[in-house]
Amino acid sequence: MPNPEHLVPPAVAISGGEPAAAPLPMQWPVTAVRGVGSERAKLLAKLDIHTVEDLLLHKPRRYEDRRKFLPIRDLKLKEAATVRGKIVAAGVKRWKRGERAMFECVFDDGTARLHCRWWQAQPWMEDWYAVNREFLVYGKPDSLKPRNIDHPETELVEPGEDEFIHVNRIVPVHALTDGLTARVVRTLVWQALEQFEAQVPEPAWGHLPAVGSALSPTPGKTPARDLPFLTGLPTRANAVHMVHFPEELTDVEIGRQRLALDEFTALQIQIQSRRKKFEVNARALPCGGDNRLMKPFLAALGFKLTGAQTSVLREIRADLGGEHPMRRLLQGDVGSGKTAVAACSALMALEGGFNVALMAPTEILAEQHFRNFQKWFTPLGINLALQTGSQKTENAAPTGADKAGTLYIGTHALLTGGFELPQLGLVIIDEQHKFGVTQREALVRKGNYPHLLVMTATPIPRTLGLTLYGDLDVSVIDELPAGRGSIKTFVRTTEKLPKVFEFIREKITAGRQAYIVYPRVDVADTDKDIKAVTKEFETVKKALAPFQAGLLHGRIKPAEKELVMAAFRANKIQALVATSLIEVGVDVPNATVMLIENAEHFGLAQLHQLRGRIGRGAHESFCILISDALTDEAQARLKILADTTDGFKIAEADLKLRGPGELLGQRQSGSMRLRFGNLAEDLNLIRQARVLAAKILA
Ligand code: ADP
Ligand code: MG
Repeated sequence: MPNPEHLVPPAVAISGGEPAAAPLPMQWPVTAVRGVGSERAKLLAKLDIHTVEDLLLHKPRRYEDRRKFLPIRDLKLKEAATVRGKIVAAGVKRWKRGERAMFECVFDDGTARLHCRWWQAQPWMEDWYAVNREFLVYGKPDSLKPRNIDHPETELVEPGEDEFIHVNRIVPVHALTDGLTARVVRTLVWQALEQFEAQVPEPAWGHLPAVGSALSPTPGKTPARDLPFLTGLPTRANAVHMVHFPEELTDVEIGRQRLALDEFTALQIQIQSRRKKFEVNARALPCGGDNRLMKPFLAALGFKLTGAQTSVLREIRADLGGEHPMRRLLQGDVGSGKTAVAACSALMALEGGFNVALMAPTEILAEQHFRNFQKWFTPLGINLALQTGSQKTENAAPTGADKAGTLYIGTHALLTGGFELPQLGLVIIDEQHKFGVTQREALVRKGNYPHLLVMTATPIPRTLGLTLYGDLDVSVIDELPAGRGSIKTFVRTTEKLPKVFEFIREKITAGRQAYIVYPRVDVADTDKDIKAVTKEFETVKKALAPFQAGLLHGRIKPAEKELVMAAFRANKIQALVATSLIEVGVDVPNATVMLIENAEHFGLAQLHQLRGRIGRGAHESFCILISDALTDEAQARLKILADTTDGFKIAEADLKLRGPGELLGQRQSGSMRLRFGNLAEDLNLIRQARVLAAKILA
C-alpha cells in the first residue's frame, strides 16, 4: 500500500533520542510489563498494542468517576450511570426447552434493587455472577419498574489492594477485545505506569515548555479546549499518567493536548523538513513568462478574471519566476474558475519555453479539459496531447507559425512508465484530493524539479490543510464569478418523487437540463433499498418522455461515455442519469437541476461537489436531495447542505460528523494515525505545532 512519506505516524519519533544500540524501554515488547505473558500479548496485539509505549498510549474510551456511585434508587431512565451493588439473586431463564436462554441477576445496594439481563446466557455466567459477590455495574436503564439494565458493563469488586486502581478514583475504560476485560487492561496500564512512567522520555526536540513563546495562545481566539498555558504544560510522563488516571476529569484534556501536540509536532517536523530538503536541492526552472501568449488568451477568453483569480495568479507568477520550484495548493470552491487559473499558469510556463502536464482524475474530466484547452490554446500555436486509458496522444496540430510548447492533458495514464514528458516546466493536478501524494510525486518526477500546482474543490478545513498539505503554499479563490444564478436546496422523501419529476419536466420545458444521480450502478451491487442507475434509467426515461435522457456510469465504454457527454453538452439530451462519476469538474452551465436519490449514501463533501455541477449559468438552480433516512445523523447532514452552499462550512461539519476519512479521500486517512490528536478540533494545537516545528528545525 502506498504510504505518503509525510504521513507516516509519529509513533517512533516521539520516543526521542538517537537510534541507540539497545532499544529504549518504550520500544520494549509489551511482555516487559509485569502481568503480560505470551497469551495476553497476543490479545493486546489485536488492539495494535505491541510495545510498552503502545500500552502507555492506549487511549481510554471513556472515564468513570468511581469516587461516588449513584444509589440504585436514583437511577434515571436512559441515563448511563455506574452503581455498586451485591448480587442477591441470579439464574438462567429458558423460554422453551433447548431454546435461547437468558441470564439474569439482581443487584442490591441497600437503596433499591437493579435487574440486569444478558440475552445470550454464557456457561461461565452462573459462576461469575454468584450471589453475594459485589460488582460495579455501568449502563443505561431501559425501565424503572422494575429497574433494569440489559447487557451492562460490569466489574467485580475485589476487596484489598485493587481498590486503589479500580474504585475510589476516576478510572479509565479502554478499548477492549475479547478476552481482555476493562479491569485487566486497566491493571496492565497501571502496572506499565508503575514500571515505566519515570522513563517516558520528552521528545527528541526537548521539553516543550522551554520553547516558551511559541505556545502562547492566539489572543481572542481561544476555544474552550485550549491549553491553560499560564500554568504550563505537563511533562510527557505526567501527561501519560493524566490521561489514564486523572485526579480530576479536567486533567484528561490537559494530558491529551500535551500528547496531541507531540503528535502534531512530529508530523509537522516531517512535513517541514521534507520541504526544506526540497528547497536546498531544487533550483527553479524559469517559468515566469512574458505575457506574449497570455495577452491574446485573455482577450479571447470572453470574460474578465475575478479579483480572486487575478490575485492568485499574481502569487503563482511570483512562484514560477522565483528561486525554488513552486509547490502550491489552489483551493477554490466548485465553480470558482480554477480551470482559467490553470490555463494562465500553463501559459506562463509555455512562454518560458517549457511543456506542461495537466492531470485529472477521470477520463470525462480530462476530455473536457482537452476540449476547452484546445479551443483556447490551438489558436495560440500551442500543441495539445491527450493521454487517457482509452485515448493515447491525439495531437492537435498547431496552427500558429511560432510554435510554442506542448500541453499534455490526461488521467493517471500520464504516469505510465514509457510515456515521456520532455522539458516539463509545470505540473498541474486537478481535483488533487482524488489522487494520493504518491501519484502527485510520480508525475513531478517525470521532470527535473518542475513547478507544481495542485487544485482542489474539496474545501479542506484548515486543520487538515495544514496537516495533509503542510508542505504546500496555499492560495484560495474566495469569490465566485459574477452573474451566477442562486442554488436552492431541498430535502424530500421518496413519496414526493412524482412532484419532483413534474418540476424537472417544467424546467426542461423551459429549456434547462437536469442531472439525476443514483448511488449504485447495478441492482445486483446493492440491497433493494439503494437505487441503481441502470434500473432507474428506464423509469426516468418514461417520466420525462418525450425529452431525452442519457445514461452515464463507470462501466460504460469510454467512447460511449464521450458520446453521451457530447449530447448532453449540446442539449440533445436533457437529463443525464448518472452515478457520482460526474462529481468532479463537469461543466455544463445550462444544467440547473440536480436530483440525487438515496442522498444519505453520499458523503457531505461529495454531495457538495455534485451540487457544484449546477448554478454555473445565469439561471436559478435547484438541488433536490431525496432521502428516507431517519437517523439523526443522516438528517443533520442533509440539513447542513440545505442550509449553506459554503464549501468550507460543509467540509468542517463533515469532518466533525464523519472524521477525516472522506475528506482525505482514498488511502490517505489510514496512514495518518493520531492517537490523541483530533483533526476536527485541534486547529490551535496544529498551529502551535507548526510554529514549534519551524523553531526546532531552525
Ligand atoms: P472549478 O473551479 O469548479 O474548476 P471551472 O473552472 O470549471 O470551475 O469554472 C466554472 C465556470 O465558470 C466555467 O464555465 C468557466 O468558464 C466560468 N468562469 C471561470 N472564470 C470566470 C470569470 N472570471 N467570469 C465568468 N465566468 C468564469
Ligand atoms: Mg474544475
